[in-house]
Amino acid sequence: MSPEQQPRAPHDTILYVEGLTVSFDGFKAINNLNFIVEVGELRVVIGPNGAGKTTLLDVITGKVKPTTGRVFYDADVDLSALTENRIANLGIGRKFQTPTVYVNHSVYENIALSLPTGKSVWRALVSTLTGRDRDTVEGLLSRIGLAEKASQPAGLLSHGEKQWLEIGMLLAQDPQLLLLDEPVAGMTEQETDATVELIHDLADDHSIIVIEHDMEFVQRIARKVSVLHEGTLLCEGTMEQVQSDPRVIEVYLGRG
Ligand code: ADP
Ligand code: MG
Repeated sequence: MSPEQQPRAPHDTILYVEGLTVSFDGFKAINNLNFIVEVGELRVVIGPNGAGKTTLLDVITGKVKPTTGRVFYDADVDLSALTENRIANLGIGRKFQTPTVYVNHSVYENIALSLPTGKSVWRALVSTLTGRDRDTVEGLLSRIGLAEKASQPAGLLSHGEKQWLEIGMLLAQDPQLLLLDEPVAGMTEQETDATVELIHDLADDHSIIVIEHDMEFVQRIARKVSVLHEGTLLCEGTMEQVQSDPRVIEVYLGRG
């Protein structure tokens, strides 16, 4: 096939999911899903437990393969053909719910170790980082609000601070698309406030998909909301549109 004949998605899409079905032993966790995110968007995905939200992220990151359907990243990269490692290296960064930081290393070292050049633990720890890498680490530390805790062991951070550190570790790999699964789960009110600020800041130079249950938080960050239900897209729109949609009220918001 010549390049002109390769199937591709519209050029302004960071994520293009078409007719996606994921079956687990015949059970369709994702059922003929169509889902499109444009470059630079901050999209929130909500839906009741079991709606398929985490499975969708699993497909995007290559952990789970589509049973049928297509998933394109950045318009022309067919993700269904790639391994998890390849996908991570393409610039898709996923933040899991439980933070996984190196507890015995300092906050600074956690970021340094996450740089593409910091892959060798030894190199980063013997502080052979270039000036440019040091600037990058310091910039990231201030962006995630942890500059003053740079020298503390990561294990001493609060739950919320560990979440921010993990976001910083993702940013160190310079992703284009950030996938955040319930980023404020377990956070205090103050930490949640700071996370709202952080996500708005990150949205200036990333495409972001946030999966979230906390409706108050969704209201504060959402521009466009997609509601998943039983593996398909139930509706999409502003928070106000989604909240007043009778189908959404029935399957999700109405449950309190
Ligand atoms: P959500 O994140 O929206 O709560 P999930 O994507 O985790 O939903 O799950 C969607 C459905 O798929 C659920 O019914 C879940 O039990 C099922 N499921 C998810 N992963 C697997 C798996 N590996 N094997 C079998 N069923 C699964
Ligand atoms: Mg989930």
